[in-house]
Amino acid sequence: MTTEILRDLAARAVPARRVVDAVKRLRWALPLAIALTVVVHQAWESLAYESWSPAQRFLEGVLIYGVVGPLVTYWTLDWIARAIETREAIEARVRRGERYLASITSGSADAIFSLDTEDVVQTWNRGAEEIFGYPPGSIIGQHVGVLVPESLRRRGDLASIRDRLFADGFVRGYRTRRLTHDGREVDVELTQTLLRGEDGGIIGSSVILRDETDRIAAETAIRRLNQELEARVAERTRQLEAAGTALRANNDALVAANHELKQLDALKDEFVDLVSHELRAPLTNINASVELLLSNGMPDGARTKLEIIGHEASRLTRLVQGVLDISRIGAGRLKLLKAPADPADLCRTALMQLGAADRDWRVHIAPGTPAVMADADRVVQVLGNLLSNAVKYSPAASRIDLTVGPAPGGADVLFSVTDQGVGIPAEEVDRIFERFHRVERHDARETYGHGLGLYIARKIVEAHGGRIWVETTPGAGATFLFTLPRAPEEP
Ligand code: ADP
Repeated sequence: MTTEILRDLAARAVPARRVVDAVKRLRWALPLAIALTVVVHQAWESLAYESWSPAQRFLEGVLIYGVVGPLVTYWTLDWIARAIETREAIEARVRRGERYLASITSGSADAIFSLDTEDVVQTWNRGAEEIFGYPPGSIIGQHVGVLVPESLRRRGDLASIRDRLFADGFVRGYRTRRLTHDGREVDVELTQTLLRGEDGGIIGSSVILRDETDRIAAETAIRRLNQELEARVAERTRQLEAAGTALRANNDALVAANHELKQLDALKDEFVDLVSHELRAPLTNINASVELLLSNGMPDGARTKLEIIGHEASRLTRLVQGVLDISRIGAGRLKLLKAPADPADLCRTALMQLGAADRDWRVHIAPGTPAVMADADRVVQVLGNLLSNAVKYSPAASRIDLTVGPAPGGADVLFSVTDQGVGIPAEEVDRIFERFHRVERHDARETYGHGLGLYIARKIVEAHGGRIWVETTPGAGATFLFTLPRAPEEP
């Protein structure tokens, strides 16, 4: 059908029409003009011929029959030849275009076919053959209704397409279904255009059907994937919300537990404070009374018992003091009253408070040792603890060294207490400064302490900005060392 339209167009090309018309007119006009010219010429000649000389007659004959006649003939034939050439060139171009268009149409993967005014199939390309399974021979001449599924036919699918076609001249992007030769239904997108003849009258329509099966399948798959994804996201969101709720609940529980713990802690502090104070007062009284009784002279048996009472009361006093210190440290209430202090004074006070002990004491204060910036009572407490440990864990009459001097580096003052006692096993060295940690020794001395002294000593030294550590050889004694910052020099 396309081919016919193109041939039509070519035939209607302007030069071709003009050639035909002009040749038609020339067919009559040329003989008539020649006849008229001959008549005029002969008439004129019969009137004027006698007066002309032979040369004039010769020239006139040559002009009329030898020049004007051949010129008119040449011009006419030349015009016709050029017109025919132009027409042939146009026809050749149209034929090329026609072949090109025909190959596009026939090679297209879309179904392209034409219908006459009664919707009877006129042409059928290869795409149509592949999609619908009809060879051209079996479909050309059939009504296009064979391609419409029964259900759509009943709903007036073809009629509605025709209505739109005649109203607008074309139908575009119309989604519908069509029936194949073997009875399958195919989703298609239809584009149909009215075709008009030379005189403008409708001669049929062209139809393009695009197979949409793959696209629709892909769209369906994408939609399904989307739904799956949405479901998964919704599920995850639900899980996250549940986890969030659980976390919030846990958090609330933790906050409540923390609150409870704080209350318990406060209660414990209160309790420790109360008990320590309540214990300290009677213990002080017991200690004072024992000392009084002992100094007033006692029978030997009673004296020994009183000494035991005094010793145990002192132990209890130290324990109470330790527990009180620990409670203050835990609550961050360890307050230091720092002032410049002379290391020699600190050592003297600590030794005096320790009292008599059967040891070979060696005290060495290096000349020029500077004052330290410290809470004197607390430093005496640390020194007292280290000295009493040295006594506790070393044999009678053994040597104990208390040495003080500038620390290497110069910014601090270094204190050290060295005994010749049992020493500390290597695996315990890092732990003896922990709260309530005691080295298992399986001897009577074990009952002497509570594992509080070194912990408190470390806290006090660190609160001063110093450091405490131990150097020991098990079985050959231990050296406890600590540093304190030197006091700023007085102007
Ligand atoms: P305690 O009251 O038990 O002596 P400390 O905190 O003062 O508590 O000491 C912790 C542990 O360190 C002690 O149980 C002891 O085993 C060990 N220790 C401390 N000083 C010495 C020392 N001079 N020689 C050997 N062991 C020591």
